[in-house]
Amino acid sequence: MKIIRKLIAVPLVFVLLHVLAAEPTEQSVSPDAALATLNEGNKRFVDAKMSSSKPTAERRAATAQSQHPFAIIVGCADSRTSPEIIFDQNIGDLFVVRDAGNLVDDYELGSIEYAVEHVGTRLIVVLGHARCGAVQAALEAATAPGHVAAIVRDIQPAVQAAKGKPGDLLVNAIHENAREVADKIRKKLQVGDLASQVKVVSGYYDLDTGKVEWDKQ
Ligand SMILES: [Zn+2]
Repeated sequence: MKIIRKLIAVPLVFVLLHVLAAEPTEQSVSPDAALATLNEGNKRFVDAKMSSSKPTAERRAATAQSQHPFAIIVGCADSRTSPEIIFDQNIGDLFVVRDAGNLVDDYELGSIEYAVEHVGTRLIVVLGHARCGAVQAALEAATAPGHVAAIVRDIQPAVQAAKGKPGDLLVNAIHENAREVADKIRKKLQVGDLASQVKVVSGYYDLDTGKVEWDKQ
């Protein structure tokens, strides 16, 4: 019985190692082309000219077996900031990672690395947004009850950096937070040689106009 198990286990291990060692997926779309597609979609959204037939059964069928999203979006969990809607995209277009305050830690970084290495995505967008409750909470206190404490703790550096700058403190802190998260991704992302192909940008979504503005990179 032991021998049979070994006979099965060896080929399984070989197959698994082979899969893990496979060449990373080639890029689906260049970062600049991906950014242009996001801008076009956001313009349709701002102008209330969104594509009317999403999601289509054809698109669902086309992506059911494999995905090649052209952009990774690190966004806030805020219900008003759904990337597929504000960029007017479809099923399979965006690889979305969301949590309150658009922060990244190990789970999020691992998700992003997966998208770069295995589904060919090269553009990473960190998207802050107007009146972000997480940043507002971090402005009001350095700690909070329960697990919200981790969120306000990790936004503190952005709050401190924004203090004393001209303009609205909350808006500045939201911009700063998105920029700092983008920097963290640049520093911590582990994608080997693919790093040179990856572009990380940060931006700000205006809840009133629907427009996304990009930070100077
Ligand atoms: Zn938010």
